[in-house]
Amino acid sequence: MNSLTDIRRPPALTEEVYARLFEQLITHSIAPGTKLSVDALSRSLNVSQTPIREALARLEAQGLVVKIHLVGYRVAERIEPDRLEQIYEFRLLTEPHMAALAAERTSEPSRRELLVQCQRMKSDCTSDTPEDYARFSRLDEAFHRAIAVGSGNKVIEDALSALHVHVHLFRMSQPPTAVFDAIEEHSQIAEAIAAADPQAAAKAMRRHVLNSQRRFT
Ligand SMILES: [Zn+2]
Repeated sequence: MNSLTDIRRPPALTEEVYARLFEQLITHSIAPGTKLSVDALSRSLNVSQTPIREALARLEAQGLVVKIHLVGYRVAERIEPDRLEQIYEFRLLTEPHMAALAAERTSEPSRRELLVQCQRMKSDCTSDTPEDYARFSRLDEAFHRAIAVGSGNKVIEDALSALHVHVHLFRMSQPPTAVFDAIEEHSQIAEAIAAADPQAAAKAMRRHVLNSQRRFT
């Protein structure tokens, strides 16, 4: 791993450590099941233990690492194919309806923000590098979360967030799995929500989830 000592401000350092570890976990450059010690990571990244601990706590909340009592952390295993199929059944049940609700209920600023998020995906994810792949997985997750928030249904929002859908999906394949198709599909969803068209939003989301299932399984 490269040294991160050139980054001085603590919040930026924590974010950088987190982004670096996230990328390595999503792309399997650190394999599932690997034990992670705070001390060893601190030495290899050449930073103090505090940003490492903060980054690991965030990764644990996302389901990417598991805390082992008195030992440290272990990289979470990939999910089983059966479970992945069940996640898609759940997504198909919930997400098109969630998009329709978002088209009806999302505030004006949040509708515009969804379009901005789509622009950001287009401008920030232009290559097939692990960095862009990891970045897209985070933007994808944020996009679906924003629609869940816009739906006004906190139960759907909580259920989707507890599944860590995007973390699991992006770990199933290696870059660059049709990121560009997904970006286009996101634009269609965002435009339907921006136009306050529930039927079009549901249809676009359904298409996106089905295509995603084809891409990842
Ligand atoms: Zn998506």
